Amino acid sequence: MPEELSYLASYLGKDGFFKYYNRFGKLPCLLSNEIIRWKPDIVFISLFAFCYAPDAIEIVTALRKAGYHSKIILGGAGVSAYPAYFLRHSSADFAFAGEADCAIKNIIRKPKSTSGMWYFENEEITHNDPAPVKEFYPLIVPVRKSSGIQYYSGIFTRGCPMRCGFCSSRMHMPGFRKASLYSIKELFQKTDWANPSHLNIEDDAIVWDFEYLLEILNLYKISAGSNATFSLENGIDYRALDADRVKVLAKLGLSKLNISLVSIDPAVSKNYGRTGYPDKFSEVAEAAHLHGISVTGYLIAGLKGDTYDGVRKGLNFLSSLPVLIGISPFYPVPGIQNFEDLSFFNAIPPRLCAGTSCYPWHDISTEELVELFCEARKINLTRREKFRRYV
Ligand code: SF4
Repeated sequence: MPEELSYLASYLGKDGFFKYYNRFGKLPCLLSNEIIRWKPDIVFISLFAFCYAPDAIEIVTALRKAGYHSKIILGGAGVSAYPAYFLRHSSADFAFAGEADCAIKNIIRKPKSTSGMWYFENEEITHNDPAPVKEFYPLIVPVRKSSGIQYYSGIFTRGCPMRCGFCSSRMHMPGFRKASLYSIKELFQKTDWANPSHLNIEDDAIVWDFEYLLEILNLYKISAGSNATFSLENGIDYRALDADRVKVLAKLGLSKLNISLVSIDPAVSKNYGRTGYPDKFSEVAEAAHLHGISVTGYLIAGLKGDTYDGVRKGLNFLSSLPVLIGISPFYPVPGIQNFEDLSFFNAIPPRLCAGTSCYPWHDISTEELVELFCEARKINLTRREKFRRYV
């Protein structure tokens, strides 16, 4: 266990909680030796979430120790939330905030004049303001093969038109954009579809433009075959769905739906700029179940204003529906609502900012968060076989 998470040690092995704390992937010293063998001009290190900052910084340190003296550029969602942190705590040359894939040519040629770039100048941290990104190209990648089905992940939009206070997407992907149907069609035609195929659609907000989603699905079926299935991942906004829409999606091959309740307490949701309609949530979950679609309902535990009893109420609500429960202990990211003061993050270990750290950021204690987490998992165990069609 990292020392900063030692308060979790007494919960390890508890029924329904984690048994171990594992680190996956190559150790920084081995990774840096491999990188150096390629003699790169620039090393880009991408960081998915701020809580993993120590791991990214460790790789920078290992690279320098192994004798790499060229440019290192850190980027990704974790860096975008607080770029200066990474310049202060590592020997990386640059920290990039925003969508690096859309600015890659500039970053390689003229990093110091790239919008969104942070770096040291005369021993002071300076940065270029981010510029709005207009283009976005859709993406499909094969992810795994299971039971003879080839799974792909697809991303067709970027950013999100919503502004949920607990979400950091607006910081690293400002502005909502949809890929053109022409570019999506081209991509579908170029993709080497296996038979049978399943597409995980990763865009949270795509259901808000239902016609656009239907166009994409029709193009998908033309290219991947009429038996191809798909899932809507990542906590889709159920408020844009209803029983009729679920029926249409079921006919087009929807086999798995992830929807996000956030909180059962309207006051808690409202505080974060979300409206909540439990009846609508039930309608969508029940309709999906009726059509043989497996549903996971997400719930956040530990938002500001949340109480232990309030979250239990949410669990009870989800338990009454044909869904698996995806419980996410709340975690802050620099810059989100109530955590706008970035200096706060100078004084705490970033690892506390992981959901699995069950840190008591607001009114629910670690013990209670662990309890709620275990309870959700126990409920799932009893219903997994009943409701889930595939894993
Ligand atoms: S709808 Fe999802 S992606 Fe969009 S702001 Fe809310 S939580 Fe973030």
